[in-house]
Amino acid sequence: MQRFQYYIDGEFLDGEARFQSIDPATGDVWADMPEAREADVDRAVDAAERALYDGPWAKTTATQRGKLLYKLADLVAAKAQKLAELETRDTGKIIRETSAQIAYIADYYRYYAGIADKIEGSYLPIDKPDTDVWLRREPVGVVAMVVPWNSQLFLSAVKIGPALAAGCTMVVKASEDGPAPLLEFARMVHEAGFPPGVVNIITGFGPSCGAALGRHPKVAHIAFTGGPETARHVIRNSAENLASTSLELGGKSPFIVFADAHLESAANAQVAGIFAATGQSCVAGSRLIVEASVKDAFLSILKRKAEAIRIGSPLDMATEVGPLATKRQQDHVATLVEKSIASGARLVTGGQKPDGVGYYFPPTILDCDGVNSPSLAEEFFGPVLSVVSFESEAEALRLANDTRYGLASGVFTQNLTRAHRLMKGIRAGVVWVNTYRAVSPIAPFGGFGLSGHGREGGLAAALDYTRTKTIWLRTSDDPIPDPFVMR
Ligand code: NAD
Repeated sequence: MQRFQYYIDGEFLDGEARFQSIDPATGDVWADMPEAREADVDRAVDAAERALYDGPWAKTTATQRGKLLYKLADLVAAKAQKLAELETRDTGKIIRETSAQIAYIADYYRYYAGIADKIEGSYLPIDKPDTDVWLRREPVGVVAMVVPWNSQLFLSAVKIGPALAAGCTMVVKASEDGPAPLLEFARMVHEAGFPPGVVNIITGFGPSCGAALGRHPKVAHIAFTGGPETARHVIRNSAENLASTSLELGGKSPFIVFADAHLESAANAQVAGIFAATGQSCVAGSRLIVEASVKDAFLSILKRKAEAIRIGSPLDMATEVGPLATKRQQDHVATLVEKSIASGARLVTGGQKPDGVGYYFPPTILDCDGVNSPSLAEEFFGPVLSVVSFESEAEALRLANDTRYGLASGVFTQNLTRAHRLMKGIRAGVVWVNTYRAVSPIAPFGGFGLSGHGREGGLAAALDYTRTKTIWLRTSDDPIPDPFVMR
């Protein structure tokens, strides 16, 4: 059995307790993990605070921070295959996806390496004589980062990269469901040469470790990715330390297909949008909204593609859909499919948990036209697509916005003016037109409503890890006049 440690104050440690990690492809225990509880959380946050104010990090120039980030990027690129294998083993995400995604993560670190010495303060043209006023941009402080199981290296890179560029120190909590890749990534942080305490990486359970971290008095900002219900706990906990928050939450993203769309291309994007990552993607295009005149044609292409998907071991490069990450997740998907069918949704394909080992669930399509199916409202976080049809553009837009989430959306049409109207009308943080599931370090990402607030990616994300300090300097040597007049 493989054994992992976590990383606090530049040291690899066993932790207060241990727990076992399960391989979702077999259901067997495969690794032994450290479990942080309150005392380890304290140690990690104390180390981060010391590093922020007292250690060499406080004197590290922005350019030097950038160089360390470049080094980290190179190490991630060099070790991408090992990281990919660990993520696949621990979460079931297929190796085809983890290898490509982790290689790209190095570019996120490079992007923020370049930004480190471009975070500038400003000089204010103040309305008073003999006075200079300027704004310094300083790191926001110790940051708590909490991520879910899917794509942990990616979801932490979009936090760690900008936070390091801004000069913050941090405690990263890997998900208890599949922490292996992040714990291994700590070795790259160490090798890159970041001073002790700048990046601490722990894992543990939400209510003990995550909650203790989120309410810790020395934490200034919480960068959270996960479900909306957990986000409510995070906000409640932040009532203790009044930390600021950024929340990247779930979605029920609409995928709109008009009759004039290139149907084959739209179908490929829809397959990527709902069956990639076995549907465990926050941006899953889980509600297909298709023009009635092409519904049958489009569904028959989708059904053919869904049934041709190769389901198998996530470690096999040929596999296209692997297991879900946990038994809990498999049960949730199966139960919601059953409830949806009971409410009247018609099964187009899939729908049944297969026999045998592992937490598999097949690509599933539910036709929900004319039905008030729970599958249209609730997030599966699994490979299940719900379909409704529309007759007019106005109806398509109404259906798209019929959700309290607002993370991502897709529009497939050849009509340029219609595309522009929908870009404006859809209430979601990302609109993809004639494409889907594209991301880049250069492009901000984040949601509206139940999908959270704050943006990751882009320059603004680095600024979000800073706070401004206003400096006033009187440049006159004359004595201060009348002390009772505010100036
Ligand atoms: P989750 O909310 O259950 O857990 C996320 C993290 O929060 C885990 O590390 C967990 O240990 C921790 N946690 C749990 N309880 C906590 C508490 N009381 N205080 C602090 N931390 C706590 O999410 P999940 O089920 O692991 O992941 C799936 C969810 O994540 C889905 O809703 C998905 O859409 C969302 N997600 C969003 C994005 C995005 O960028 N918007 C990306 C990926 C996943």
